[in-house]
Amino acid sequence: MKVQDRFLHYITIPTSSIEENLSCPSNPDELKLAEYLADELRGMGLKSVTLTESSYLYAHLPASEGCTRLPSIGFIAHLDTSPSFNGNDIKPQIIYNYSGVDILLKGAKDYIKVSDFPDLKEMVNKTVITSDGTSLLGSDDKAGIAEIMTALEQIITEQLPHGHIYVAFTPDEELGRGCDKFEKDYFPVDFAFTVDGDYEAEVAYENFNAASAKFEIKGREVHPGEAKGIMVNASLIAAELISLLPAHERPENTEGRQGFFHVCDIKGDVSHAEVNLIVRDHDKKLFNKKIDLLRTLERKLKLKYSEDTVELTVTDSYYNMLDVMQDHMDIITLANQAIAKTGLAPISRPVRGGTDGAQLSFMGIPCPNLGTGGYGFHGPYEHVCVESMETVVNVIKNIVSSAK
Ligand SMILES: [Zn+2]
Repeated sequence: MKVQDRFLHYITIPTSSIEENLSCPSNPDELKLAEYLADELRGMGLKSVTLTESSYLYAHLPASEGCTRLPSIGFIAHLDTSPSFNGNDIKPQIIYNYSGVDILLKGAKDYIKVSDFPDLKEMVNKTVITSDGTSLLGSDDKAGIAEIMTALEQIITEQLPHGHIYVAFTPDEELGRGCDKFEKDYFPVDFAFTVDGDYEAEVAYENFNAASAKFEIKGREVHPGEAKGIMVNASLIAAELISLLPAHERPENTEGRQGFFHVCDIKGDVSHAEVNLIVRDHDKKLFNKKIDLLRTLERKLKLKYSEDTVELTVTDSYYNMLDVMQDHMDIITLANQAIAKTGLAPISRPVRGGTDGAQLSFMGIPCPNLGTGGYGFHGPYEHVCVESMETVVNVIKNIVSSAK
């Protein structure tokens, strides 16, 4: 089956993850997609297919004859789509021989503009798939799933020599829970790749170090008419705290390897306020320095008001996989060669976010991220190029057939 036909079928199964639902999977429909994929894998002849009740799907294609000594390689994609935009009732628009103009999203009477998405310039004369603008498209990460499944099918039918291949499809990546119930026993690989990025010639092995921070602020409420010398306004302390964060280290003012403090939400009245923020930096030293700054601000406000006015809680989320990958750069070389074989020049850029592969790398599975050919994720402007999806299928096959 062609990669785009698989993709177009997978997006008919809605799998938006649901933040408020703490069960796993957060959306029972993720299990429906996993069951469909499990059947498809069995139909390809894979014997060892395991679907857990938490909707983690694992499958193993044993090494071909004489290839058992080759490294065991894994490929991973996620079942859910982002909850940040409608993911139901997706009506795809397929544009053949794309001319390079802004693309009309017929359901929303809106456009995907070339000026906003310069990647479209590379898709001229190719086939582009978009939604109709009333939903996201779901190429994040159903393009990744379709590419892994199609590569697997071609490896089998073309009888390519290969070592052990494992695939895993995981739930709730978009909620940051994709690795919570990952069972390594079903995935005994030497290394793996997530297929969850955008540009098809990219292999990414650097991501943010990440933490979330919460300031709880306690005020003292009295009648404003009689407040002199008594009232402590928690909301104003929250505002003061935010004003003390460096303005040049905000998401809207940073790029590349520059980290940031991002104030995600503030709520408050006189007696109580809360400031939630996230901290990101590729560099571990600068990351720790940012956390130190938050602790300094906590101390400063405690001194200025009182010891029990401000309470800071910091929770680490994930770390930069580069710390692990720098000892496994042969994997990046393998991916770069696999990409170069398709005629494209491989690139690697630091990811300004996290991937499931980052967590897996720290769980002992070095796991960089490959592109999918999709762009504009998490919203109505999401689009994917069919030829790019075909390239990713070849990248996966090239990785498998050149691994030594
Ligand atoms: Zn994704």
